[in-house]
Amino acid sequence: MYNDILRFIREVFHEPEDFIPLHAPYFGGNEKKYLNDTIDSTFVSSVGAYVNRFEEMMATITGARYAIAISNGTTALQLSLVAAGVAPGDEVITQPLTFVATANAIVHAGAQPVFIDVDRDTMGLSPAALRTFLTEHAEITDGICRNKKTGHRIFACIPMHTFGFPCRIDEIATICEEYKLVLIEDSAESLGSYYKDVHTGNFGLMGTFSFNGNKTVTCGGGGAIITNDETLAKKLKHLSTTAKIPHAWEFAHDSVGYNFRMPNLNAALACAQLEQLPEILENKKQLAETYARHFDGQKISLVAAIPHAAPNHWLNTLLFPNKEEQQQFLKESNEGKVMTRPAWTLMNRLPMYAHCPHGDLSNAQWLEERLVNIPSSFRTGAAKPYTAS
Ligand SMILES: *Cc1c(COP(=O)(O)O)cnc(C)c1O
Repeated sequence: MYNDILRFIREVFHEPEDFIPLHAPYFGGNEKKYLNDTIDSTFVSSVGAYVNRFEEMMATITGARYAIAISNGTTALQLSLVAAGVAPGDEVITQPLTFVATANAIVHAGAQPVFIDVDRDTMGLSPAALRTFLTEHAEITDGICRNKKTGHRIFACIPMHTFGFPCRIDEIATICEEYKLVLIEDSAESLGSYYKDVHTGNFGLMGTFSFNGNKTVTCGGGGAIITNDETLAKKLKHLSTTAKIPHAWEFAHDSVGYNFRMPNLNAALACAQLEQLPEILENKKQLAETYARHFDGQKISLVAAIPHAAPNHWLNTLLFPNKEEQQQFLKESNEGKVMTRPAWTLMNRLPMYAHCPHGDLSNAQWLEERLVNIPSSFRTGAAKPYTAS
């Protein structure tokens, strides 16, 4: 039924018959050289020149004043909540359509997730749904936002830029300010994505990133937090490095810290990858444009960014008219060795999060039944001739 689409994807990747992954890493630069440097220098662990260089590069790329290297995207989210002052029992708003790490990090930080719907077009947190929920459920007393029903403090809001498409983050920031909520952007998927010419992760107090193997660029495993607040930046670095008081030889610590620093080994890989970010983004943009031309005016549509949003095109996303067709395409494509994936199971339907408060989630459900991610890797030049069979 979907032979045409599968054939087209094979043409686009110059891959007539072998397996096509959803998203493969691309190592085309100084990766091996920098990794060797770390081994030659013996600085493979959490202290080293590449860790500092990585932080400088991340600050430059995102335009944030500070970037802190963290062990991965999940711990980056957890630590950002801790550094912002989350307390046990606090509620933290996020979207149900996200990778499970977002909700896990909230719980690891001692808080409870509250799931608010996404917009259909951005697939990220909906400012309208956020406002509806807060109008109905929140009250502000002495500068603290509380959930009238549960009595708990609503501490923070963590929107996520799904598949690299920026959500309406400026509107969300305005609402968060109004309701005294700490805004932390889960930008794990949106390195290189801009909204109104500002890099994602800069709209609230902090933004977090991931360099896991499936992301736009990878360092095996790694993360980062960006912020424009100097005090917070120092606190993040302190807490992520076991809260050790700097001293030439003494081991003294002033709070319960974390071992969340990115090792130099990973930072070396990250630096080599970040050097290639412009090239990778351009390559992925061309792929997205190729897909867009093909699906233009079709019954099965390709998700496009909203006005003022410049996505990184991490994962291209198709929308099917209904669940049956979505399931049929998932079956045919994966059986045909073209890797495709549906959305994550919505957080509110996972056993450990089923009891969490939530608003109306009909857009998330609508998307869950229709969306499919299609192969979106960096395309290398080596073209195999395509032979239709
Ligand atoms: C990948 C990802 C994370 C977690 O990052 P890790 O580095 O794998 O811990 C968090 N949130 C979202 C939305 C992600 O896609």
